[in-house]
Order: sequence, then C-alpha cells, then structure tokens
Amino acid sequence: MITLNGDYKKLRGNFLFTEIAKRTNDFIAAHPDADVIKIGIGDVVRPLVPAVINALHKAVDDMGTYEGFHGYGPELGYSFLKDKILLKDYKERGIDIAYDELFVSCGTKCDTSAIQELFSKDTVIAVTDPVYPVYVATNVMAGRSGAFDDVLQGYNGIVYLPCTEDNNFIPELPKQKVDAIYLCYPNNPTGLALKRDELKVWVDYARKTGAIILYDNAYEVFITEDDVPHSIYEIDGAKEVAIEFRSFSKIAGFTGTRLSYSVVPKELKRIDENGDMVSLNAMWTQRQTMKYNGAPYIIQRGAEAIYTDEGRAQVMSEIGYYMENARIMREGLREAGFTVYGGVDAPYIWLKAPGGDSWAFFDRLLNEYHVVGAPGVGFGPSGEGFFRLSAFNSRENTLKAIDRIRKGIK
Ligand code: PLP
Repeated sequence: MITLNGDYKKLRGNFLFTEIAKRTNDFIAAHPDADVIKIGIGDVVRPLVPAVINALHKAVDDMGTYEGFHGYGPELGYSFLKDKILLKDYKERGIDIAYDELFVSCGTKCDTSAIQELFSKDTVIAVTDPVYPVYVATNVMAGRSGAFDDVLQGYNGIVYLPCTEDNNFIPELPKQKVDAIYLCYPNNPTGLALKRDELKVWVDYARKTGAIILYDNAYEVFITEDDVPHSIYEIDGAKEVAIEFRSFSKIAGFTGTRLSYSVVPKELKRIDENGDMVSLNAMWTQRQTMKYNGAPYIIQRGAEAIYTDEGRAQVMSEIGYYMENARIMREGLREAGFTVYGGVDAPYIWLKAPGGDSWAFFDRLLNEYHVVGAPGVGFGPSGEGFFRLSAFNSRENTLKAIDRIRKGIK
C-alpha cells in the first residue's frame, strides 16, 4: 500500500493567520456593530494602475485573434518581458544578468517554496527569526526538520538566526555549519532593510563556507535609503553564492494577478551526491521546464507595462501612497509612546508590544480599539513581544486605526 509523506504532519499549518481570523470573527460575531479595521494583513488594497489595465485589455484582445493568440508560452518567460526586466531592474543598476539566468513565473511564494527541491534532504537550512513562514514550512514538508518544539516555538533541525532589539534586528552569522540561508530584505515582518556593508558580510560568509543565499527581494521597490542595495548582485561575488527572487505582487499590486521572477546565475555551482560539480542554473531550468508551463501571456503583458515611463510613474505613486501610510503609523505610534521599527524601506511596522506578549496585545487592540494586527510570535520565536502592522490599507483606515490607538493605549 502507498505510504504518505509523514513530514506534512509536523506542520503547524497557517496557525498565525487562521488564529487571527478566528479571534477576529468571534469578536465580530459578538459585536456586529463594531467597525473593525484590519491592518495586519500583507495584501495590497489599491487597484492596478491604468497602464497595467490598458496592457491587460490589449492582451485580452490579442488572444481573440489568430495573429495575437498565444497558447503554451516559453516556460521561462516571454522575451518582451524578460528583456525589460534585464534592462530596467539590472543593467541600469550596473548588473549584468544573462537572458537564460532569468526565470519568470507565477509568484515568489511558489519560487521560494520550490527552490529547495534542488538541495539534498540533509541540507541544513537557516532562516532569520522572525521570518516569512513559507521558507520554514516548505523545508519541513520536504523532511529537513524534526518536530515542532512547543517551548522553543520552532522546528528542531532548522537553524533560527534571531533578529532582536539587541542586534538591531540584524542577524548574526550562524555559529554552526549551515548550507542554505533564506534572507529577505527589505524584511517581512520587521520592515527593516540591510545596508550594503551588512549584506556584504553575508555574501562573504557564503563565499567562505560554500553556503547558498536564497535572497527574497519581494519588497525592493519600497527602498528609500541610498545605502540599501536594490539587488544582492550589487555585492561583489554574489553571483557565486546567491539566488534572487522578486515579485510583482507588492511592486505593482499583482497579488491576485500573480507574477514573479527568479535569477539563478550560471556561476552558482555546487557538488551533488556523487561529488560532481553541477550548475544550479541548469537544475532550475530543468525544474521549471519539467514542472511548469509558463506564466500567462496576458499577465506578462500587464507586467511589461510597469517598465514604461508612464507605468513606472503610476506604480511609484501607489508605492508612495502605501509608504505615506507607513509614515503615519510610524510617527503616530512613536508620538503615542510606542517603540516602533521599520516602515522606511518596507511597508511594515514592527511594533514593540507593551507587556511583551504579542497575543495578549492582539486581544487588547481588538477588544478595546477594534484594530487587528499580526502578533510577532507567529513569525518565529524571536517575534514574541512584537507586532506587525501593514501599510497596505486605505489612508482613511490607517488614520482611523492610529488615531484610536493613540487616544487609548499609552
Ligand atoms: N516573499 C515575502 C517575503 C512575502 O512577504 C510575500 C507575500 O507576502 C511573498 C514572498 C509572496 O509573494 P508572491 O505574491 O509573489 O507569491
């Protein structure tokens, strides 16, 4: 009889967002008239910009003609989009990425989940803590962890790199040997970024130890400070050690439309179980062409529009809107006496929860002020005592939520 993958059982699932939804729904059921404002979720709320909408309409019309119809596309992305990504996101920043090092697909969640298939089962995984939960969960499902430890609030076998107030939320280099490290900067959930010299420490470490960096750059467009790198490949030697992931979700409001890309440089090579030197670019090409049939033509045309002057200006105006929300939250909460981090290079605020218990603070905000955020402990053990607020909201809701908190809790 078939035996199923028992590693799935180790998963703590989507405990964080399921529990947030449960507590919020229970509260709404008990207080149907309450005006509950949700500022915890990391999903965009504003519509796609006109340049994207026009491009999508045009692409739909293409699909209704013999000349413009597109069936299966190239698995790794259409050249009309790839050429623009290579030029605008890399070449114009002084980085040369080859055409066949760029892979277009349907989301950074899928890409960061799938990449671990290239590694052997005994690969030691390190994550910054707190962390976007997908990196951990997908490695647990692949059998690279022990059980969840209720005391430590983490999985045995996964190396957690604490990001705390004591180290300014900058992870220290691992004390033990690790093989693959997920770095996400600008960071979800802390809302902080690494400066160029801080990221260089990691690239140098990986070059020295042979570790691979999986660099999730989903929030690149929110960077405002000059010394924060827009790509890990701005750091010398990064092509030998790093894979970069980017998403159109937060950049252009594509969370429901779905599009992303990854860069796997040809310099990135490691040995396989036979001791043969293998190119990760060749493996990822195999993986994507075998398991994936390409992102939709219509959506890639929509994404292409953000690389025009008009599209870029419209998208940056949306980013400015969200970052103004971040500023309102950051400054409003500081004025109210809270300790607040992030929100300068990323659309998240990392708030120190008074009392130190993130779920108790969640309940207090919900019950007293009808505001919903995300308890930090849901992002990893070092998230306890913190709270994530998201700038992805309307201005009205942001102002209202901060005003309520400001007037109430000190
Ligand atoms: N990576 C990080 C760090 C995220 O915060 C998110 C979404 O919240 C994603 C990836 C998901 O990206 P996508 O919508 O492209 O799957």
